Amino acid sequence: MNDRICSKCGRAVPEDSLFCPSCGNPVNQGAPQSLTPVPKRDLAGPLFGGGVLIILGVSFWLATSGAISWAIWWAYFLGGLGMLLILLGISNARSGKDSGPITGGIVLLAIGIIAILAWNYSLSNWWPLVLIVLGLVVIVSGVLSRRIAPR
Ligand SMILES: [Zn+2]
Repeated sequence: MNDRICSKCGRAVPEDSLFCPSCGNPVNQGAPQSLTPVPKRDLAGPLFGGGVLIILGVSFWLATSGAISWAIWWAYFLGGLGMLLILLGISNARSGKDSGPITGGIVLLAIGIIAILAWNYSLSNWWPLVLIVLGLVVIVSGVLSRRIAPR
């Protein structure tokens, strides 16, 4: 980050300082925002809560309208939930926070996709496949989330 320059003595002033450390001149000109830092509103919670409800509503709607079977609607819900978690994890990682939701999201998405495929192709013994894919997902997402996260 750029240090500001004191308008009185010309020395560098740390960004979070209200007064010049050298001469005590108040340095509020030019960068008023940094004096009263407005904490970024964490939208992750509301967005996630709203997203869950929307996905639940959409999957229910698909089932009630006959687009998908009631026996498989939960897989669509899990898949949507997974995508939501992935987005949350990516936005977390961008702001330097824990990118853990990515792993959980990919796991849920994988379960959803496999269940939907298994349903469509009438596979009965698909659960072992889920475990295998989940194992791979956990490993791969661990590597990916480490790459996304700024360190
Ligand atoms: Zn000064």
